Amino acid sequence: MVYSNNYQKIQKGVQRAAAKRGISPQDITLVAISKNVAVKSIQNAYELGINNFGENRVQEALPKIKALPAGIRWHFVGHLQTNKVKFVLPSFSLIHSLDRYRLAQVLQEEGAKRDQKVDVLLQVNIAGEKSKHGFQQAEVQDVLQEVSTYSHLRVRGLMTIAPFVPNPEEVRPYFRTLYRLFKSINIPEVEMKYLSMGMTNDYEVAIEEGSNMIRLGTALFGDRDQ
Ligand SMILES: *Cc1c(COP(=O)(O)O)cnc(C)c1O
Repeated sequence: MVYSNNYQKIQKGVQRAAAKRGISPQDITLVAISKNVAVKSIQNAYELGINNFGENRVQEALPKIKALPAGIRWHFVGHLQTNKVKFVLPSFSLIHSLDRYRLAQVLQEEGAKRDQKVDVLLQVNIAGEKSKHGFQQAEVQDVLQEVSTYSHLRVRGLMTIAPFVPNPEEVRPYFRTLYRLFKSINIPEVEMKYLSMGMTNDYEVAIEEGSNMIRLGTALFGDRDQ
């Protein structure tokens, strides 16, 4: 399957939203979410010039990473079990889903063992949904203060998964709130560089509200059968 049409559509969408916000499309990083997608399809997407891919399950991801070019930047976007951390650190460049203290501690311990600084985004449950992982908005400042003292953990920004709604306009206020929080953080050792928000359904709205990292699966690869 050739994804160039999908990719062109995405590029147009990114351009449109970036123009509305008055920024360059180059300022937006596309992370292609390749969960449930075969190696061959990921290779196709890579050949279109996409260099950032995201996976949400360790067992599925590791053989795929092995089979694909070493230059790819891999993002971990799923709920990460602490016993899987040691498999994730060597293979992934950025973990989007730091969603609890215990995980921060284990990432710190494993990072120290490997003498590796672990780049993470703090996952925020921006709508306070029971079904979703992540810190509550009100906790973020304290969590960042605490983990900023961890020698082998490097916070690079925030991530959220918005509620799934048919009309993305409904989640615009959540994106706006998270952007404000993102801009308000002022802690030495904590770099607010990436704001990872926006998926297939809502990425244009997310960019309009300040996202600079979007995570797209369906828009690029089509529907996942599962
Ligand atoms: C699956 C997934 C995505 C991509 O979802 P689409 O709606 O297919 O674009 C993005 N982020 C996370 C955390 C995911 O699990």
